[in-house]
Amino acid sequence: MKYLRHELVIGKEAQKKLEHSRVAVVGVGALGCVAASLLARSGVNLVLIDRDVVSVTDLHRQILFEESDVGFSKAERAKERLSKINSGINITCYNLDLNSGNVSILGGSDLVLDCSDNLETKFLLNEFAVRNKVPLVYGSAVRDKGYVFDVVPKGPCLSCFLAGSKSLMACSSEGVLNYLTSVIGSLQVSQAFKILLKKDYEKLLLRFDADKMELSKIKVNKNKRCKVCG
Ligand SMILES: [Zn+2]
Repeated sequence: MKYLRHELVIGKEAQKKLEHSRVAVVGVGALGCVAASLLARSGVNLVLIDRDVVSVTDLHRQILFEESDVGFSKAERAKERLSKINSGINITCYNLDLNSGNVSILGGSDLVLDCSDNLETKFLLNEFAVRNKVPLVYGSAVRDKGYVFDVVPKGPCLSCFLAGSKSLMACSSEGVLNYLTSVIGSLQVSQAFKILLKKDYEKLLLRFDADKMELSKIKVNKNKRCKVCG
């Protein structure tokens, strides 16, 4: 009954599949708040990971938090909030800095959502996904543009086209529009559903420009010399 409106679109069997899935959300910031909220409301079990505490400058876009959360762990506060939204799902949270020594905590997940804000974590997740054949949905959003990319077994990985990059533009210095992060977090969930439900679709780099209201689909080729997946 709870998921009736979803079942009318995707069917009961697909909805059951979602309820038996576990998704790790790495980074419970702007993208992570949107994605985790939609996943929790869809009945998906969650692993939430974030090393940060809520800051007052996060509130304009991190939709799971309110003023009384400032100074507290994002992962823990998000878990509390999401448990109230859907008490029927299982949520594990980690208040830690994900690194090569502890990345194995992602091991029991069917899919990883990269909602992090730095390249170091993004490359760490990419390597984990390729090595362990766990699908990964990458997301990033800065200023008025955002990107989504799916890393799946046999397909190109993040390093195929981002290997030379040293850093990403940061929201802390460049800023970001709150409606953009809602769009990108939602697009990540739409890709996650396709992967969890084993749908056949073309894996493309999605680029959304909120100023021009343009969604571009860019073909990414596998780089034979890629140090991660080549
Ligand atoms: Zn690669």
